[in-house]
Amino acid sequence: MAIATINPATGKVERSFDAHDEREVDRRIAEVHSAFRALSDTSFAERAGWMKSAADALETDVDQAARLLTLEMGKTITQARAEVLKSAKTMRFYAEHAEEFLSGRALPDPAEVDASAAYTRYEPMGVVLAVMPWNYPIWQVVRFAAPALMAGNAGLLKHASNVPQAALYLDTLFEKGGFPAGSFRSLLIPASGVERVARDPRVVAMTLTGSEPAGRSLAAIAGSEVKHVVLELGGSDPFIVTPSADLDRAVATAVAARTTNNGQACINAKRFIVYADVYDAFLERFTAAMAGLVMGDPMSEETEIGPLATESGRSEIEELVEDARSKGATITTGGTTPQGPGWFYPPTVITDVTPAMRLYAEEAFGPVAAVYRVADRDEALAVANSTTFGLSSAVWTQDPEDEQFFIERLQAGAVFVNGMSISYPQLPFGGVKDSGVGRELSAEGIREFCNLKSVWRG
Ligand code: NAP
Repeated sequence: MAIATINPATGKVERSFDAHDEREVDRRIAEVHSAFRALSDTSFAERAGWMKSAADALETDVDQAARLLTLEMGKTITQARAEVLKSAKTMRFYAEHAEEFLSGRALPDPAEVDASAAYTRYEPMGVVLAVMPWNYPIWQVVRFAAPALMAGNAGLLKHASNVPQAALYLDTLFEKGGFPAGSFRSLLIPASGVERVARDPRVVAMTLTGSEPAGRSLAAIAGSEVKHVVLELGGSDPFIVTPSADLDRAVATAVAARTTNNGQACINAKRFIVYADVYDAFLERFTAAMAGLVMGDPMSEETEIGPLATESGRSEIEELVEDARSKGATITTGGTTPQGPGWFYPPTVITDVTPAMRLYAEEAFGPVAAVYRVADRDEALAVANSTTFGLSSAVWTQDPEDEQFFIERLQAGAVFVNGMSISYPQLPFGGVKDSGVGRELSAEGIREFCNLKSVWRG
């Protein structure tokens, strides 16, 4: 894929970039590697000060950064601003909590291990490579970089090829706050250039947020190099509506859960699993609310749905919908690509989806909701878990017994009860099954890229 900013609302190439050649890639790896040594001599307090200053810089840039996100990948300007502010908040969160999260622990009774003292300590690993997607161009990177840098690691970013200006903005952000030059660097390289960087001996660990094939490919490299890897991959999250649900809130939340980020979030709810008792009422209201969303120019404050980020992404959505339609699914709203420039696709609701349709098993990365009718909680659970993914999940119920039933049995990295899946810096984030390996955010996220060293004194 060419490294370029192409406005998804118009299809126009705004700016193209030459990829870094091998010499420049080597120079950048060397720079980050030497910055890691400088970072190793710094304290939590110093790094916290730099991280807070970088958060201030990001907040000051909020309008400019938000416009850049909307230009490069088409999210609405209101959601772009929210992304930037959430990123700054998370930088402050790690500035304030990194030391506590990495404080290690002492054995209360060291004699048990024949020692006078025994304890653990977390140490930074070194240079970590982050391969990141375009859907949250700043947030995805910050949720890796803020904990990694606060732990004392240095970061190399290979961002998605369609968000090069976001990559270049992030290239200087942490330095602006005061981090040693080279603590964080972007590489403008295509996906085919990742393997060489991942195998470089100066790179000790890696993380990838993106699609399952990309994750499998990087994990294979990490395996053959015996390097630590964290994977945050796709999702096809269930959103279960039981008869005791507050239907008004469930419908309004279902619309937001499916269409946030123009339907291109890993934790968008993608499959709506509704008990027969409330199915008709839910479907009617959900269809009307999805149909009523304002689609248009993502730079406009009134727009609720912008274009999909790439032309190929829209083609994939069109193919998924056509496949379902041709095999007998019912489309209650949307389902037709609008005429005109840009990669728009309308909010779409589909029922009568069967396992023979691609939509049943594949992730729909666009504003397309599949609604399933189920008889009871056993069937709801079976449909919810009948996927290779396991990122997050949501269940709507007022019944404590139902709540516990789903919390215990949903195969997912998170369960949200009477709400939609959202990532918070305070809560671990990650998936099971094909949705990934490892966790980001919270204490668990910062510990992923640390050496947990045991110390024993005789
Ligand atoms: P993608 O094609 O996998 O791209 C993600 C990143 O990986 C890009 O930087 C891409 O570079 C790179 N890449 C692609 N193929 C690669 C390979 N074989 N080896 C190494 N790097 C490779 O993903 P996408 O389609 O842009 O993003 C959407 C996917 O990301 C969805 O499945 C979504 O659910 C998932 N996602 C998951 C999370 C999570 O936290 N679990 C969060 C956000 C998104 P190029 O751009 O140069 O191809």
